[in-house]
Amino acid sequence: MWKQVKKIIQQSNRFVITSHVGPDGDALGSELGLYYYLKSLGKEATILNATPPAKNFTFMGKNRAVKTYNPKRDRKLIDQADAVFILDISEWKRLGAVGEDVQQSNAKTVCIDHHICLKQLFDVQVIDNKAGSTGELIFRLIKDMKKKLNAKIAEPLYIAALTDTGSFHYSNTSPSTHTMVAELLELGVNPLNCYNQIYEQHSLERFRLLGQVMLNAQLECQGQLAWATVDKKLARKVNADIDDCEGFVEMLRSIQTVDVSVIFREESPQCTRVSLRSKKTTDVHKIARSLGGGGHKRASGITLNLPLKKAIPKVLGEAKKSFKKRGVK
Ligand code: 5GP
Ligand code: MN
Repeated sequence: MWKQVKKIIQQSNRFVITSHVGPDGDALGSELGLYYYLKSLGKEATILNATPPAKNFTFMGKNRAVKTYNPKRDRKLIDQADAVFILDISEWKRLGAVGEDVQQSNAKTVCIDHHICLKQLFDVQVIDNKAGSTGELIFRLIKDMKKKLNAKIAEPLYIAALTDTGSFHYSNTSPSTHTMVAELLELGVNPLNCYNQIYEQHSLERFRLLGQVMLNAQLECQGQLAWATVDKKLARKVNADIDDCEGFVEMLRSIQTVDVSVIFREESPQCTRVSLRSKKTTDVHKIARSLGGGGHKRASGITLNLPLKKAIPKVLGEAKKSFKKRGVK
């Protein structure tokens, strides 16, 4: 498959690069890494995402190369593209309006991802769910093409690896993650700066929201299932944004007895975002997939077109089924 990707890069001149809605560190990091690589080959490339970056990655969105898709302005870039790279996601639905327009164009589609994907949906698909981040796959591609990396390519790839491995402690962290990171640091990446920009820009309101959410957190299934909700009313009460709950699900997981943590976030009266994490045993991807979501074994998500009140029993019901199978009530 890499061979086909290389051939497409060699034979094409105009590229569009995209990723999932609410692009995060790995989405933007792998996009920017690939973007600077294509630029270094003298190619034309544009990054088009259906929605702006997730809150703690807005600093990456300030890069002029990253555009939030505006069909009137950008549709022609898709129509004129020889190839579209789809990174860190392997389904059409989560590409939003960009995906809809790409499907109507003649561009070749190349998907590079590390999520679990069971179908062939794109012209060329390189999926490695053992990779710690999609950034790692972009690094592999560039090395394979015998091209030297530079500092511009290095920083976004470092951010991709840093954020998707939970600062290098998740089970997807491998020797090759660290080998790559060593090389990126040699190129001048500043880890303190990267960390500061992503993890040390919180508002006090976010911590006030954390307090409120944790006050209402629940433990079930003999303490192995932890869950909490974040609704707009609660966020308003402490003057926080609903997006400020990023990271809460990992905190719930870190409770000693917990294997599965779930955060329910009210997007709108009819839409609930669900984040699932597991520590060691439960495959939360199975739970997410059964309800139309996806992700990884230890980290998955679902968007449900249901109000919070209806989403909660639906998801908890599935989670409890998986505990029950193991004799946990
Ligand atoms: P998060 O909880 O941080 O939003 O997402 C955790 C993981 O699940 C990420 O790898 C993310 O890409 C994936 N994910 C979240 N929501 C969805 C969804 O609705 N569909 C799919 N396929 N994956 C999702
Ligand atoms: Mn990723």
